Amino acid sequence: MKHIGHYIDGIRRKGNGKRTSPIFNPSTGEEIGQTSLATEAEVDAAVKSAKKALLKWSELPSVERVQILFNYRELMHKNLADIAAVLSEENGKTFEDAKNELMRGIEVVEYACGIPQMLKGEFSSQVSEGADAWSIRAPVGVCAGITPFNFPALVPMWMFPLAIACGNTFLLKPSEKAPSCAMILASLLSEAGAPAGLLNVLNGDKVAANRLLTHPDVSAISFVGSTPVAEYIYQTGAANNKRVQALGSAKNHMLIMPDADLDMAVDVLVNSSYGSSGQRCMAISVVVIIGEETADKIVERLAKKVKKLNVGPGSDPATDLGPVIDKEAKERICQLIEHGVEQGANLIVDGRNIELPGYDNGFFIGGTLFDKVTEDMDIYQQEIFGPVLSVMRVADYSAACHIIQSNNYGNGAVIFTRDGGLARSFCRHISVGMVGVNVPIPVPGAYHSFGGWRRSLFGDHHLHGPEGIRFYTRQKEISTRWPGNLGAEFYSQ
Ligand code: NAD
Repeated sequence: MKHIGHYIDGIRRKGNGKRTSPIFNPSTGEEIGQTSLATEAEVDAAVKSAKKALLKWSELPSVERVQILFNYRELMHKNLADIAAVLSEENGKTFEDAKNELMRGIEVVEYACGIPQMLKGEFSSQVSEGADAWSIRAPVGVCAGITPFNFPALVPMWMFPLAIACGNTFLLKPSEKAPSCAMILASLLSEAGAPAGLLNVLNGDKVAANRLLTHPDVSAISFVGSTPVAEYIYQTGAANNKRVQALGSAKNHMLIMPDADLDMAVDVLVNSSYGSSGQRCMAISVVVIIGEETADKIVERLAKKVKKLNVGPGSDPATDLGPVIDKEAKERICQLIEHGVEQGANLIVDGRNIELPGYDNGFFIGGTLFDKVTEDMDIYQQEIFGPVLSVMRVADYSAACHIIQSNNYGNGAVIFTRDGGLARSFCRHISVGMVGVNVPIPVPGAYHSFGGWRRSLFGDHHLHGPEGIRFYTRQKEISTRWPGNLGAEFYSQ
């Protein structure tokens, strides 16, 4: 059994706390380790280390800071397969998915390598006699990230590469359910040349999170997780004078018009709904179809594909659909499926009671498909975060948009159509943070920013891209006057 502690001041620590949390292999259901849950004193020690490192780091020219990130990119590539194996073992996602996750994280490192260009600021010469004005973007100080289980590498990498490139130091509190990846990410950063304290990892639960939220030396908090916790983090962090961005839960809709390429829509739906067992904040969990005839065609084609999904352990290259994270998640999802049946939805494919010889204790749920779901049902109202797709049937485009607009969450939405004018209206008017046209999941690249609207995001800034730089820096305006204007006559020569 492995024991995962913390990474503080450039050294792996065992953890002094008496409290621990089990780590499972979701494919076998076996307990494979324990996470040490950080105490308040350990958080304080990590903040002290980050604050000490900040003095030199924030003074280092940005071109020198990014040399470490260039090295880090190489080390990430070199160790990609090993990190992906650990990620897949603790999270349950397939090895391919785990590698893709890491590649997306490396894209943020690459974006952060360009920070000298992006921190240039603005300058106005001669705003009055002998005076100039300019702006700089200064680091905010010690920043913290609190992250979920579903992307143990990517979500932290949405945060810390950009934060440190901007001149901040960073404390990461990963999910206690999948803690190993963050430890590897931090030790590789040290190997890349990072000074002690630049990136500290505190494994733990809400005790560590709460201390970060109230610690006077933490200036900014980035959070990604479920909406109730996101709202709490935002309110508590703001009450303690911190800058906060808190990304929450999601319910992402795909709208299919009768004129769409239906085969293409069905193909992409399978991956965007069931990939990573639906445990993605950008997974499509609801498909809204215009017209009965289109809906009949799609449900028939979808059902065939969902039944064929190969359910298995993340380590098997033939697996399409791995397990969900733990026993509680499996029970919660199965209970929601039961509510769906009780509340009158048509269960077309039932993924419960799936049997996998050799993996009897794994947390598996097969692909599940509901038809004729309505807005009042629990399976529509709640984020399921599992391999369950709901089909809703409506008469026209405005009824579909009304459903999407009325949902609590506003992370992403996609339209499938061949009508350019309609697609353009959808992009302009639908009130979610990330919109797609004829694409599986509208996840922006590292050089754009990621974030939802409504109860999917608390705070003003999205993650990474230009919004990430704004979040991890403070604008400063400087006005100077230097009397004397010698040499003005040279202008005319
Ligand atoms: P979670 O909210 O349970 O936990 C997230 C983090 O918060 C973990 O580090 C956890 O230890 C900590 N935490 C939990 N309870 C806390 C409390 N009471 N006080 C302080 N900290 C607390 O989320 P999860 O189950 O790990 O992840 C799944 C959720 O994350 C889903 O709702 C999913 O939609 C969401 N998510 C959203 C995005 C996005 O970009 N919007 C991305 C990934 C995941």
